[in-house]
Amino acid sequence: MLQQTQVTTVIPYWKRWMRTLPTLQKLARAKPARILKLWEGLGYYSRARNLQSAAQKIVTEHAGIFPNEPEQIRELPGVGRYTTGAISSIAFGQAEPIVDGNIVRILTRIFGIQQNPKEKKTQEKIWQLAQTLVSAAKDCSSLNQSLMELGATVCHPSQPECENCPVARSCAAKREKNTHLIPARGKPIRYEDKEIKVYLLAHNGKILLQQRPEGITNAGFWELPNNETGPEITLPKRARPITSAKHNITKYRIKLNAYSIKPGPFKGRWFTFSDLRKFPVSAAHRKILKFLEPHVSRTIE
Ligand code: SF4
Repeated sequence: MLQQTQVTTVIPYWKRWMRTLPTLQKLARAKPARILKLWEGLGYYSRARNLQSAAQKIVTEHAGIFPNEPEQIRELPGVGRYTTGAISSIAFGQAEPIVDGNIVRILTRIFGIQQNPKEKKTQEKIWQLAQTLVSAAKDCSSLNQSLMELGATVCHPSQPECENCPVARSCAAKREKNTHLIPARGKPIRYEDKEIKVYLLAHNGKILLQQRPEGITNAGFWELPNNETGPEITLPKRARPITSAKHNITKYRIKLNAYSIKPGPFKGRWFTFSDLRKFPVSAAHRKILKFLEPHVSRTIE
């Protein structure tokens, strides 16, 4: 939940999740729509699906007990090298390294690594350094957590607080006065703008929605018909969107423009706005629906 999301945003989600699905068994058995609903608004929905798949694997292959071997942890859906290191060291006190953005910054500065940390060879070097440090530590959990904390609170990307840093005496970047050059930056991400046309079909106070198919981002979510997952409708020349919503996915800056249309080639399910509150809907479509609600609700005959 915390990936790319602030702690204050996550807390209510976490509490609701733990109230609804307090055990691995409950998570493994939950309906996928319920999982998506609990995650609605956090984005990166594959994480929610992976959590459920991991719970199912633990129930079927590990008798419902979370495995404590790093190799077994790594085999769980959605768990990569970083998560394996975090669980193994923090939950089980094992000498497994973790490397995130904060730790990259600290280690490249302490050891004066000037190469771009996005390059594979440099990444591997950083992982090996992290491994060496955690292997030498008495308390692996504290070592990894203190590295993360140091990166988050002292070794800032710009203007690190070297005067307050407990490892200042060992830091090559401080000694060489080149903290502003380390870690080396790669090319900036180039964002691409994308427009999606969203079609509004309302009838008797209800609105037509479709479910996103499997195999694409946000699969299983309900959304207004659109030209991303369905056909493009020819709009009158002067058609203007009724409302718009923006959201970003990976390198795309997406603008959803909503148009009112006559019944077209769209199949789906008609929802009242109160029904909709129980179903998972992505944040951008939710925003358009919020705008529409007072208008569509008035069309009840
Ligand atoms: S001395 Fe400065 S640059 Fe080096 S780890 Fe500490 S805060 Fe970061």
